[in-house]
Amino acid sequence: MPFSSLGISPELLRAIGDSNYPAPTPIQKEAIPAILNGKDVWACAQTGSGKTAAFALPLLQNLANVDRARPLCVRTLILVPTRELAAQVGESFRFFAEYLRQPVKVIAVFGGVSINPQMMALRGGADVVVATPGRLLDLLDHNALRLADARTLVLDEADRLLDLGFADELASIISRLPQRRQNLLFSATFPPTVRALGEQLLHDPVRIEVPAATATDPAIVQRSIRIDTARRTQLLRHLINKHGWTRTLVFVATRHSTAHVAEKLRRAGISAAALSGDLSQGARTKALADFKAARVKVLVATDVAARGIDIAHLPAVVNYDLPRSTTDYVHRIGRTGRAGESGVAVSFVPTVVEEHFRLIEKRQRLRVPREIIAGFEPSS
Ligand code: AMP
Repeated sequence: MPFSSLGISPELLRAIGDSNYPAPTPIQKEAIPAILNGKDVWACAQTGSGKTAAFALPLLQNLANVDRARPLCVRTLILVPTRELAAQVGESFRFFAEYLRQPVKVIAVFGGVSINPQMMALRGGADVVVATPGRLLDLLDHNALRLADARTLVLDEADRLLDLGFADELASIISRLPQRRQNLLFSATFPPTVRALGEQLLHDPVRIEVPAATATDPAIVQRSIRIDTARRTQLLRHLINKHGWTRTLVFVATRHSTAHVAEKLRRAGISAAALSGDLSQGARTKALADFKAARVKVLVATDVAARGIDIAHLPAVVNYDLPRSTTDYVHRIGRTGRAGESGVAVSFVPTVVEEHFRLIEKRQRLRVPREIIAGFEPSS
């Protein structure tokens, strides 16, 4: 099924052509016609499924039929859990919007940077605002924007938004939106809290399920390796060298570990950057840009910092420390094996976390057989 059969306008078809998207992804096939029709959407999809384009393209097309935003007003509001994702989704919208005949104003707002330029930018109103909830509320408190004219609300990575404790912020934002509006909810997982939010928010939604990245997804090979805690960095170096991974995203449990592991890799001659909430926004942006541009081979990150980031051509994800939840596990491994590429997700499993990994396996309903690598046999 080609993009042209989904009801997309010729201008946006050109944007898709220039993006070299060969065909719509499963989520795009279902979401684009539904969103163009003004339906609410309940979509189970994760980063890597092409979900951003699945909502950006039809929402931009729908904007062509409405009046431009008035001063301080916003037409389409997209809430995302992290700064990085806000910037990334904003960029996608801007890229596609360039192809439209009328100008569409897209503004991304997030914390960690000065609020004043964002207030200035919003003064004339915006057609699309991509925001993290905290900063959006700050801006509302400053009367820097009004939500009364918004026609569409998108919750992107709804499970993350709730995981990060944004439930109250979301409720406050939703209460300021007009009653009549289109609602889209995208989430990789559907724990009870997300279900409840969806049920409260969505009216007669079109339900879309795209299989999550689990063992059933052949694009991602999952491996788990038994290893002594103290030898994990050595094993990491060994795997990077042995498999010739051009880029590796390594997850650790704490901010402190990001710097520590990255430093150990650098000392061993492997270029590595750390990404954590401890860094200034400028440093975070730079670490990510260096990794994306292949100036560093390894990015060592915490879950929060790496949330939602989209890195093309990422062959390997390593759980140096295991994630706390199965949700985090699914999100982490979903960073690799994007858009038709294959990838590997390796979990290090020292004896002390064996029980915890079994729980993750059980919740995912799969087994990832433990391997032992020659030269790295665990002592126990
Ligand atoms: P997302 O799930 O929105 O984070 O998108 C993941 C990546 O897939 C992004 O780099 C997109 O540019 C890319 N992408 C989106 N749609 C398609 C498509 N139809 N074909 C190939 N790549 C795509």
